[in-house]
Amino acid sequence: MNRIYITTPLYYVNAEPHLGHTYTTVVADALKRYYRSIGYETFLLTGTDEHGDKIAQAAAANGTTPKEYADRISGIFRSTWDTCGIAYDHFIRTTDDYHQDYVRRVLQKIYDAGDIYFGEYGGFYCYGCERFYTEKELVDGKCPDHQTTPDFISEKNYFFRMSKYQQPLIDAIQRKPDLIRPERYRSEVLAFLREPLEDLCISRPTSRLQWGIPMPFDDKYVTYVWFDALLNYVSGLDHQGSDAFATFWPVAQHFIAKDILKPHAIYWPTMLMAAGLPLYDHLNVHGYWVMDSGKMSKSLGNVIRPLEMKARFGMDAFRYFLLREMAFGQDAKFSEDALVTRINADLANNLGNLVSRVLAMQQKYFGGKVQPLPKDWPAEDVELRDKFAQAEKELHGYLAELQFHRALESVWSALDHANRYVVQTAPFTLIKDPAKQERVGAVLHHLLEAVRTLARLLAPFLPETARELGALLALDGDALRVPWGEGFGTGHQVNPPKVLFPRIETEPKR
Ligand SMILES: [Zn+2]
Repeated sequence: MNRIYITTPLYYVNAEPHLGHTYTTVVADALKRYYRSIGYETFLLTGTDEHGDKIAQAAAANGTTPKEYADRISGIFRSTWDTCGIAYDHFIRTTDDYHQDYVRRVLQKIYDAGDIYFGEYGGFYCYGCERFYTEKELVDGKCPDHQTTPDFISEKNYFFRMSKYQQPLIDAIQRKPDLIRPERYRSEVLAFLREPLEDLCISRPTSRLQWGIPMPFDDKYVTYVWFDALLNYVSGLDHQGSDAFATFWPVAQHFIAKDILKPHAIYWPTMLMAAGLPLYDHLNVHGYWVMDSGKMSKSLGNVIRPLEMKARFGMDAFRYFLLREMAFGQDAKFSEDALVTRINADLANNLGNLVSRVLAMQQKYFGGKVQPLPKDWPAEDVELRDKFAQAEKELHGYLAELQFHRALESVWSALDHANRYVVQTAPFTLIKDPAKQERVGAVLHHLLEAVRTLARLLAPFLPETARELGALLALDGDALRVPWGEGFGTGHQVNPPKVLFPRIETEPKR
């Protein structure tokens, strides 16, 4: 059986879920639903990253303990994804015991193999980034992300011999051209690897930070957050039982935003090599959602909240916008105007109108009872069927390349065609001629087939809408998958229409 393992990053609990988190999660969810619909065994992992300076500081500022603080924010992430209908299989927290045990086992293994050593290090430490900067990485002596002057800290620490894996990593990336995709991020990583790779400081002394996983070989130190967090992708599988790793790790696909490319493209694969584990199958990198005010990132704390979007526009409409508007890998603009335009044009007018017109005519002319199709179909009927078959074929191709926006474009192109077919065949005129009743029955039958195909094709992207379409057609499961013309048995009764996406009225522009 074909399989796919899909992960989101573990979201850091220093902020509540915003647009960036939601996009990555929706992409992962849509892809999982898609692969499940074509018969794959799937596993979707998400969760929260909870250790480190920033959490300890935020907890102190809130007058609470780091664990209580992490519990609260992690709970918000989990309930948000539940409310949004995200079909994750496991929600992992880096404070879970099994994860901490796993991290300690891997650290011990790498230490025993000689790839972790103790050494002195001095560097400019940014508390916001939780990392050391070299002098040349600073901009005017300041952290490029936070615009603050980092402290110079000199201390003894544990180091991961990352430099040893520089060439093996370059070789792995060159052997598999789509290991990191899209291409621009692969190029970025290879360009970075042209400079000598330094070893990675992977500990923090407990004199400075206690909120972390203690090093198994020295309890005066805790683990660096990235070393802890990245291992979730494996510990989360390992926790499912002995088979899960063998089943899903070879087909692991990580989804991340470009701000965490370096940890995922450099630290993580070298860690896997040192731990004697195979690399992931693909690292899939998307861009930022930008607003007029600037970039969206976890550090700048933006305010598009998924639950508010769901309450105002509906989750399917919000999902549609996210998947349709962003070309995976590139930045995209977010604005409410653009969202409302998409909802009105694509969902209310195009999709909503087709469904309600077809079901209304079916109800009015035949009491909802589906009429038989003749043996021979006129060219326009064949063309309609072929148009949907073509959209489905294109959708498979685009999704294999993570081109969600193009996949949806193909479906909407078939939808446009179906709306033109209604105008072209004009069943509302033909019905006035008693000799044309049979033709009207056949035209509506083909249009119901179009709606049935939509219920199947849209399910990964708009799961609630797809379920509603199935309910309106009084069909589900396998009945949605049979070939065009075989979906409705003799005398099958469909339901009267309902409004799927109400038009959103906007203030007239001055
Ligand atoms: Zn910083």
